[in-house]
Amino acid sequence: MNDSIKKLLRITDKNLEITDVSYETVNKKQRIVINATLSPCPQACRSCGSTVKDGFGKTVIVKNGKKMTTIRFDEFNHMPRVMHLKKQRYKCKNCRTYWTAQSYFVLPKHSIASHLRYKIISFLTDKVSLSFIAKHCSVSLSTVIRILRSLKSYVPSNSKKILPEVLMVDEFRSHASSEDKMSFICADGESGQLIDILPTRKLPRLTAYFEKCTNNDQVKFLVTDMNAAYFQLTKTVLPNAKIFIDRFHIVKHMNKAFQDFRVKTMKVLQKKGFKNEAQKLKVNWRSLTKNRQNINHSEYKSWRSFRAPKFPLLTEAMMIDRLLTFSSSLREAYEAFHDLADAFRDKDHSLFFELLEHLPESLDEEFRKKLQKLLKYEEGIRNAMIYPYSNGKIEAKNTHIKTLKRVSYGFKSFENMRIRIYLINHLIEVK
Ligand SMILES: [Zn+2]
Repeated sequence: MNDSIKKLLRITDKNLEITDVSYETVNKKQRIVINATLSPCPQACRSCGSTVKDGFGKTVIVKNGKKMTTIRFDEFNHMPRVMHLKKQRYKCKNCRTYWTAQSYFVLPKHSIASHLRYKIISFLTDKVSLSFIAKHCSVSLSTVIRILRSLKSYVPSNSKKILPEVLMVDEFRSHASSEDKMSFICADGESGQLIDILPTRKLPRLTAYFEKCTNNDQVKFLVTDMNAAYFQLTKTVLPNAKIFIDRFHIVKHMNKAFQDFRVKTMKVLQKKGFKNEAQKLKVNWRSLTKNRQNINHSEYKSWRSFRAPKFPLLTEAMMIDRLLTFSSSLREAYEAFHDLADAFRDKDHSLFFELLEHLPESLDEEFRKKLQKLLKYEEGIRNAMIYPYSNGKIEAKNTHIKTLKRVSYGFKSFENMRIRIYLINHLIEVK
């Protein structure tokens, strides 16, 4: 009977004696209680080395009462399960040292069985919240955090970091760091694998970090957004790296410039009393940035802003054309924007920069300046059009960032969050 219960509990300690299994109610919740005693034969004193009996046959190590402990186990058939374990205490008469018997399935001074500890650790590698884990393991939130914290020693140190040939860097808002609102993330541009996260994106800290990496001269590309601060890294700690601006950020920048100008146009129209026209530019914003090659020229429909029968049936191309008749400056901006976007999609970098440098003087000043800001990043943008790093890898990094955003929420300690990120990305193996 004793052995069968031990098998159910998956405990093999032969010094553990199970005396009884019952139920008890704590805080109106029932739980299974296993009463057990742990009383191995006394062994030599760890403090002075005395054996159980001295040379004259006198007993030196004696039993000294039992310590009552409660150990939490995993749930069993949806009922919390605990063990009331009486641990034998010993006393060494020689040096007056006291100690308590210990078993492998629970760490000294802990109240969580290793089985449950592993279950919590395995939950920590999934993308679930800490409170979810606490709830499903019937433990408190602070217990989950304590276990997370205990894994700190598994996180590899910076000095052993191997940097990839293509290094992607970015930042994310983390709530967890008091040093900086934005934290720093870097990943492998070819595998998408997370490399590291740092509590700050400030340059001196990043420089110090990359200096410690042993192979920083082997980084060939630094993939980044249009944050010029990171460019400095190539001048100091990543001497052989070329700047590569994330394509997603280039497109985003161009779209933003165009949308800002559309809003400006709407305001001008409103002032002149053309409220309907302004409204139409507002609701159809998506059509205006749509890739020109994908615009439909043949299917006639009624459109939300141009409803039949008040308006004739129009193709998508005709509808967009109508929108552009509201403002000649918007039409001009539309053409310039799409010429650039097409060149970018076709990866024709010489055309792209030619267009950018020679944007018509008549174009709205503010819009033109925003676009020409891209000239400052010419090298990085050119590389983005020349080299074939697929968007997929960048996607992987963005997925990391999304995970980070979701997971980082609720963390008050950057270190704890960092351990969690390592666990989720399977970058550390807990045994
Ligand atoms: Zn002793």
